[in-house]
Amino acid sequence: MLHELRHIRHQHEGTGADPHANDAKANHEEEFSCDAFATRFLLEGIDAYGVLTGEAVEQVRRKRQLGIHFGLFAVALLAKDKWAASNSHPSVQSRIDAVRALMVPSSDMATAMAHAAFAALRTIWPGAPRSP
Ligand SMILES: [Zn+2]
Repeated sequence: MLHELRHIRHQHEGTGADPHANDAKANHEEEFSCDAFATRFLLEGIDAYGVLTGEAVEQVRRKRQLGIHFGLFAVALLAKDKWAASNSHPSVQSRIDAVRALMVPSSDMATAMAHAAFAALRTIWPGAPRSP
């Protein structure tokens, strides 16, 4: 939903790809921009949220990153057999890699669950993207 919200903002701000231009590079940049917006929206402000609510910041981060991992997993499922770059979208793997680069590196349970989910998917669909 946050990804789609950023597309709408791009349209209103005039910063998105021209839908009539058929410009793959611009289309891909907009997709990466929308993925980054959604990821940052979920991860920024965790410290302030922890102070406000008394919640453990690392648990909040873990929960949100797990949600992001499974959002990426849903994209991989929905894009079955269309994981490569197209004119309108970058490859699913490059989108996963870009989002993962925005996340706090960790070896926690959320990352382990994402690795397990993607590894299981690749046993069924060998060409599916992987969790780096
Ligand atoms: Zn999009």
